[in-house]
Amino acid sequence: MLSTILKYLEEKHVCPHCKSELSLCHAPPVHVGDGLGWGCEYLFICLNDECSLFANGWQHIENQYGHVGSYRYMEIPGSKETYNMMVAGRGAFTGSIVDVEAIKEQNARYQEEKKAVAALDTCLDEKNLEPVLFLIKDEAANIRDRKKAAALLVPFNDPDCVEPLRNHTFKDTSLEQEVKMAISAILTKNFQKECPFCFELIKSRATVCKHCQKELS
Ligand SMILES: [Zn+2]
Ligand SMILES: [Zn+2]
Repeated sequence: MLSTILKYLEEKHVCPHCKSELSLCHAPPVHVGDGLGWGCEYLFICLNDECSLFANGWQHIENQYGHVGSYRYMEIPGSKETYNMMVAGRGAFTGSIVDVEAIKEQNARYQEEKKAVAALDTCLDEKNLEPVLFLIKDEAANIRDRKKAAALLVPFNDPDCVEPLRNHTFKDTSLEQEVKMAISAILTKNFQKECPFCFELIKSRATVCKHCQKELS
């Protein structure tokens, strides 16, 4: 959940061994030690190679277990639980660091989506087509909200919506169909049509396309 991870990003966890800030990582699917889940999708881990726990762990594991490995210090987000987790090498977990920038971007997009959804009920009265276009074109938005937005196209009857929507590639074919039907209804109402040769918009009564000069039957 986005809200969960945003909450975690605000937490500050510091390694008691080396005082470095812990990195938020995706948890491995199972607890290696006891076969149980972590109960959490994310872990805060000290990835500092100079950390005393990690630097001294190699010798300790060699002596104790006779194999190569060390420990990384970790904490469970939103709790006081801490672990020294056995790792086989330096690279363990470095590939699972949470991409904070991507999360923030995702959140910014989600906030935009929420704003657009909230505007849907009043945008027609306000003659504000923007949230409608935003939602219809936002492939990551909730499909129900996108269809609700698409249903407003015909009442809006604004030919300005045609160009941006005609060029959009829809993943959802039923939404694409609804938008296509809305566009053709809007064009008809505004006495326009699509040139069958160059696909530019022209007057429905035109006999020659003003864009490609082809004759229309
Ligand atoms: Zn440390
Ligand atoms: Zn044409």
